[in-house]
Amino acid sequence: MSFTSFNLKPAILQAIQDAGFTAPSPIQAQTIPAILQGKDVMACAQTGTGKTAAFVLPCLQRVVSGPSARQGHGPRVLVLTPTRELAQQCMDNLKLFGKHLSVRSGVVIGGVGYGPQYQLLSRPLDILVATPGRLIDHMNERRVDFSRVEVLVLDEADRMLDMGFLKPVEKIIAALPSRPQILLFSATFSPEVEKVASRTLQNPHRAQLAAAKQDHSAITQHVFHVDNTDHKQNMLSHLLKQNDVDQVIIFSATKHGADRLAKKLQQQGFSTGALHGDMKQNQRKRTLDSLHAGRLKVLVATDVAARGLDVKNLSHVINYDLPNLAEDYTHRIGRTGRGGAVGVAISLVSPPDLPLLRDIEKRLGKPFTFSKIEGLESSFTEADFRRIVSAEAPPGRPKQRGQRPARSQGNHGGNSGGGQGQHQGGRTHGNSHGGGGNRSFGGRPRRSFSR
Ligand code: ADP
Ligand code: MG
Repeated sequence: MSFTSFNLKPAILQAIQDAGFTAPSPIQAQTIPAILQGKDVMACAQTGTGKTAAFVLPCLQRVVSGPSARQGHGPRVLVLTPTRELAQQCMDNLKLFGKHLSVRSGVVIGGVGYGPQYQLLSRPLDILVATPGRLIDHMNERRVDFSRVEVLVLDEADRMLDMGFLKPVEKIIAALPSRPQILLFSATFSPEVEKVASRTLQNPHRAQLAAAKQDHSAITQHVFHVDNTDHKQNMLSHLLKQNDVDQVIIFSATKHGADRLAKKLQQQGFSTGALHGDMKQNQRKRTLDSLHAGRLKVLVATDVAARGLDVKNLSHVINYDLPNLAEDYTHRIGRTGRGGAVGVAISLVSPPDLPLLRDIEKRLGKPFTFSKIEGLESSFTEADFRRIVSAEAPPGRPKQRGQRPARSQGNHGGNSGGGQGQHQGGRTHGNSHGGGGNRSFGGRPRRSFSR
C-alpha cells in the first residue's frame, strides 16, 4: 500500500514524502480511508504506531477540500489530547504535513499564558489542538466558537480516562452545536475505552492492531531487589555508571519524587532533567529538547508526563518506582529497544512493591528472573519474601484492606510476623509463575500471586 492510494492532495503527498514516510503504517492504512469517508473511527494501537498522522492527514485533507458549510470563525477540526506535550506533538505533525498548505491551526494548553490563546481563538481557525482543562476555561469565558466543528479527535483516549478527563471531554462534546465526526485513538483497548466509544461514537469503523503480546525480544529485562531507599539509590548510581548506559529514562511514582531524584542525581554528577505535570510548559519543552540533543543523560519522569511521547530510542529504562498499573510497565519499557536497537529495562523492587510486580508478571504472562549485583545484594531472604507475599491482603485480614502497602520508605517487611498460614486461598503455586531461574532465591519456585 502507498500513500497515493488515499487520493490525498498533491501538497500533502509532497509533505509526506518530505517527511521521509514511504508507506502508511498499518494503523494508518486501516483508518485513513474510513476517516476520509466521514465515518466515526475507533482505533487502538500501541504507542509509536503512527496514530498521529492517521488523523492529521485526513483532517488536513478535509479542511483544504472545501470551505466550511457553516458560519463562524472557530475550528473545523478539534483535537483533544491528554497532555501538553501530546498537543504539541499533534501540532508539530500538523505543521509538518501542512507545510505546503495554508491551514490555520493552533494549540490551547495549560501551563502557558492566556493572552496569546485569546488572540488565537479570536481569529479564524481551521484546526485546534487542545487539552481539555484549558479548553474548558476558554469555553466558560465564551471565547471558543464551536459552530464550525466538523471533526472531533480524541487522541490517547485511554490516557485521558486515566487522567480523569472523561467528564471534561463529555462537557466539550455537549457544547458542540452539532454532532461532528468523532475519531477515537487509544494506545490500549480496555472496557473503559470501549464504554467511552459506545457512548460517543456512531457506527464506528474499528481498527485494532494486535497489541496483545508486544514483542519485547529486543529488551533485556532485569529486576533487582532492594532493601530500602538508600539501597535503591546506591544501586541506581551504580547502574548509571555502567558503560553501556547511554541515555536513560527513570520512572518515578510522583512528581515530587521525580524532582527530588533528579536533584540528587544532578548532585552526583549525572546530567539529569525531570519531566512531570507540575512543570511549566517551556521547562518541559527545554528538558525534552536537551534530551534529544544529547545534553541530558538521565530523564526522571512520571508516567503521565512520559505517556505517548515520541521520545527517541533510549538505551535504558529504569523503574525506580514500579508503575501502579501493570500496563504502564509495557509502555515504559517500550521506550527502549526500538527500531532494531537493543535496550535494557531495569526494575528496582522493594518488598512492598511485590504485589505490583505480580500484576506485571501476570500481564506479561511470565515470571521475572531476579538479578544481583555483587556487593549490592539485597539483605532480605527468601523467607522474608514469602512472608511479605503471604501478608499481602489475604481475605479477612483487616489491615491494609483494599490498599497497596506503602512504597519503600527505608523499612522492609515492616509488618512481618503473623503471616504464617495466611497464604492466598485458591491461588496457584509454582508452575507458570513459579519460575526456574529465580537466582536470588535459590531457584525454588515462588508463590504465584494474583490479585
Ligand atoms: P503514536 O501516536 O501511535 O504513539 P506517533 O504518531 O507519535 O505514534 O508516531 C510515532 C513515530 O512514527 C513518529 O516519529 C512518526 O514520525 C513516525 N511515523 C508515523 N507514521 C509513519 C510512517 N508511515 N512511516 C514512517 N514513520 C512514521
Ligand atoms: Mg499518539
